[in-house]
Amino acid sequence: MKKGWSIAATVLCLGLAGTAFGGCQHIMPFSEDLATSGTVPEESTTSSNTGIAFKSRPRDSGESSGKAVAEDTSDVSVSGDRADDRDKEEKDGILQQAQRLAAMYDYDNAIALLQGQPEEPGYAQAIGQMEEIRDSCVPWTPEQVTHVFYHTLIKDTALAFDGDSDSAGYDQVMTTIDEFNAITQSMYERGFVMVSLEDLAVKDENGNMVPKEILLPPGKQPFVLSQDDVSYYHYMDGDGMASRLVVDEDGQVKAEYVGADGSVSVGDYDMVPLIDAFVEEHPDFSYRGAKGIIALTGYEGVLGYRTDGVYETRQELDELQQVYLDTHPDFDHEAEVARATETANAMKENGWAFASHTWGHINVGESSLERLKTDTEKWLTYVAPIVGGSDKIIFAFGADLSGAEGYSGEKFDYLKAQGFDYYCNVDSSQYWVQITPGYLRMGRRNLDGYRMYYNPELLSDLFDAEKVFDPARPTPVPEMS
Ligand SMILES: [Zn+2]
Repeated sequence: MKKGWSIAATVLCLGLAGTAFGGCQHIMPFSEDLATSGTVPEESTTSSNTGIAFKSRPRDSGESSGKAVAEDTSDVSVSGDRADDRDKEEKDGILQQAQRLAAMYDYDNAIALLQGQPEEPGYAQAIGQMEEIRDSCVPWTPEQVTHVFYHTLIKDTALAFDGDSDSAGYDQVMTTIDEFNAITQSMYERGFVMVSLEDLAVKDENGNMVPKEILLPPGKQPFVLSQDDVSYYHYMDGDGMASRLVVDEDGQVKAEYVGADGSVSVGDYDMVPLIDAFVEEHPDFSYRGAKGIIALTGYEGVLGYRTDGVYETRQELDELQQVYLDTHPDFDHEAEVARATETANAMKENGWAFASHTWGHINVGESSLERLKTDTEKWLTYVAPIVGGSDKIIFAFGADLSGAEGYSGEKFDYLKAQGFDYYCNVDSSQYWVQITPGYLRMGRRNLDGYRMYYNPELLSDLFDAEKVFDPARPTPVPEMS
């Protein structure tokens, strides 16, 4: 029974979202009456003109920080020409670091980095340019920020769309790598810049969520990116998608792909490495280092690692889990958790964030409080330690705790008490943001086969769906039943 449940839950992922959820249909992904704009009540929408100071974020203190530079320069001890060359290289390196920070809109830290060094030719000019761009920046409030999401990307369309029982679901809710790259390129050309949920609102000293401003040069606009179900579920084996995320020799996060012939390759086969590579080449696609949010269930592990408790206890395994363990006789649960943690750490280091997608991919609207508690406890037990905890929850099935009216009641009180401050559903409006002292809540837009096929006009601010749509997709894309 459980097998059937997990397969249905994951393949259909969002497919059931339009059903049986009372007054909340406008925030469901695939309902006929698409979301109306302005669904957020005025009083609960905070418009921010609070003039938030331009601050750096902790994740910027990594490779490009002044501290790292100071350590590097301290070991210049060779004499003569070689020392001079080394010196010049380091000065150029500092300028490059500052320019990269500025390209990511972190002008203050870029300028501070240069000002903290002995004066060099070129520094003053660079500082002047950075100040000029910084002063031209336009503020964006959270209500002006769109949020798009994907599922695991399809690498091999022939395998994904081979006509087996999962093909229809992939055609509906998944996106191919070619489509993803075309969408990313289009959004980049249109000036979109990835921001984090923390760029929209953070808790103040009293624990109340307060809106923030995002400052971007004219022509740029912020968006939030997320990806659901990055578990590489067992049912996807052999269906043309990556099998897990791994950290390569250079400390980069890549995707592992097992070919039809059993050969294993490592590369940019899913969103995380694709975005990392894109930002490496186009730092101005990321606001001060922000990347996307990865929403994780737990029942088959995370990031392709079989970290859930059932793989350790081997109690109540479903059929696919049993097959997995039977075909992996050397399976070591502890080692699996360690590798998942290493991968998650490398991702966080690179600007990625994690969210709960509920442990069992449950519909929070339909679930009882008891079920929500049991499920959340499992997420906190088996997933949170790997990703370092999370204050974000991205609801499965695009479900939600309530309609457009603000959250209240025991399910919200429970989740809030477990530390969740950021809540996301699915909504096809361009913008759907609600900020109250208790939480930030945001609608997300699915960029998948279903949406591109049936509602290309809803995506026209982001890209031209007709140009992006992968010709390898079977059409018509099946309707949501
Ligand atoms: Zn999902």
